[in-house]
Amino acid sequence: MVEIPKQKIVVVGAGPVGSLAALYAAQRGHEVEVYELRNDLRDPSTTPLNFTKSINLALSTRGITALENSGNSTLLEHVFDATIPMRGRMIHGKRPSGELYEEAQDYDAHGRTIFAIDRAGLNGRLLDILEKLPNVKFFFNHKLTGADFRRRKAWFEVQEGPKDKKAKDGPRMRLPEIEIDFDFMIGADGAHSPVRHHLMKYVMMDYQQHYIDTLWCEFQIKAKSATRVVVGDDKEAADAAFRAKFAISPNHLHIWPGKDFMFIAIPSDDGSFTCTLFMPAAEFTDLEETQDDGVTLPAFFDKHFPGVTQLIPPADLIASFKRNPHLPLISVNCKPHHFQASAVIVGDAAHAMVPFYGQGMNAGLEDVRVLFELLDKHAVVESNSPVGDDKGAAAITAAEANRALALAEYSALRVPDAFAINDLALHNYTEMRASVLSPAYRLRKFLEEQLSVHVPWLGWATKYSRVSFGNERYSEVVRKSEFQGRVLLGGLVGVVSVPALTGLVFLLLHRRNVAGFLCSVARHAKYIGQWAANGFRR
Ligand code: FAD
Repeated sequence: MVEIPKQKIVVVGAGPVGSLAALYAAQRGHEVEVYELRNDLRDPSTTPLNFTKSINLALSTRGITALENSGNSTLLEHVFDATIPMRGRMIHGKRPSGELYEEAQDYDAHGRTIFAIDRAGLNGRLLDILEKLPNVKFFFNHKLTGADFRRRKAWFEVQEGPKDKKAKDGPRMRLPEIEIDFDFMIGADGAHSPVRHHLMKYVMMDYQQHYIDTLWCEFQIKAKSATRVVVGDDKEAADAAFRAKFAISPNHLHIWPGKDFMFIAIPSDDGSFTCTLFMPAAEFTDLEETQDDGVTLPAFFDKHFPGVTQLIPPADLIASFKRNPHLPLISVNCKPHHFQASAVIVGDAAHAMVPFYGQGMNAGLEDVRVLFELLDKHAVVESNSPVGDDKGAAAITAAEANRALALAEYSALRVPDAFAINDLALHNYTEMRASVLSPAYRLRKFLEEQLSVHVPWLGWATKYSRVSFGNERYSEVVRKSEFQGRVLLGGLVGVVSVPALTGLVFLLLHRRNVAGFLCSVARHAKYIGQWAANGFRR
């Protein structure tokens, strides 16, 4: 076996996925350079991605596993310090009587939770760790403008940060482009990925993008003012003081479902909630026209999201609607994700998805884990290469060939999984807005959870728990969930049809007695009706 030569790995994009990719590469001893369009997000003068304060995300098992496997023992500890477990959805609504209600639906029959996390916080922690590694260099304010994946060269426009730190969106100075060399480029540059754009000139990439007719806008439920200070180790008192900061349960993802709209709230560590309104573009336009009248927007919320105006004062609601951008949601599918041994795209660059399964970042972090597992698997260079000076050159050639194999396997594995989660995310919008209230949805969830708890050897699990609490391939999750659906449907058809057929045979055999029985039922129908109205209680 020959020592694999260390390579120069260039990561484009220092978002959560690019930062984790840089960490995985650095832990393997490579020379890593990270190029990022924007300024360092830890600098308070940086305009955040999407122009809002921050996005709160749901972190689940796939993301956690990828962070865990990064080889940095403190990363997960740091990340968990700032997360809040969310055990399920809290559905908010209004009864016909006008009474507001909340109904909790746990995500998992085994009590597992997903975690609310501040995306900027997670990203900042990753950058802090990378900064301490001697083999990682950052290049902020560097915009990728071109790449030659055969000659392995890339060009970046170097931009100065805003001259006046307060004028965040002020004009930027343009400086000449720089040219760099690389052995391997990882494109983690988001949904509108320039790496993907340049890759398309080298590989026959199938590409599809789709904007759904829904925009999103961010709001905030403020923390309740601090009431209690806990001194010492009293865990119960500390917990109560923590909960007292929140206006609604901190351990749920809150949903106000609507047929065409949805409002959600995710808890933040400081007691506030980051809320998102999802709504068709036409509705946004209508509300923009009336946003200054002071009454239409709060009335709209009262009608569709009952109780929200008690949590967000109408003036704040209007201010957020006017101040925060109304942003589109894009879904991207492409294949393959790589070119020979020189480049690969990961995260949103490869599979931007609508946010309704809470998997975009989780899938991106998982990409990094899968990618490096395959690079490691193919990294062994056999020593039957020439001796002397040629040995190093041969090892490089072999390493390249192995990386090409790893990347081909990566695309073959990851493309169907990316397509699968993209589809699941699109369908989950319907589930979150409407199905959570449907009896059929609840019945299936109930049956599947009972099977998973009471007959564990069957390996039964809900689709949600397979996606969020496991690392099974997304395409496998879809296959298993469809199989379970067919079995359940078959079972239900059996449950209904066997008694129905038995009843039919009985009818045919005892026609006279049955007529008498039906007369008796008719006589008692009134009492049966009352019993049913009473919920079949005595
Ligand atoms: P990004 O975070 O987009 O980072 C890309 C980086 O590349 C940026 O820093 C950008 O500046 C840089 N870049 C771009 N162009 C260039 C260039 N030319 N040169 C150099 N650098 C460049 N995911 C979840 O897992 N759970 C959730 O609950 C969840 N909720 C969401 C809610 C909303 C409303 C939205 C919009 C998304 C949500 N997501 C969620 C998805 C998640 O935000 C993304 O999947 C994730 O941020 C993708 O990370 P990334 O690193 O791939 O891309």
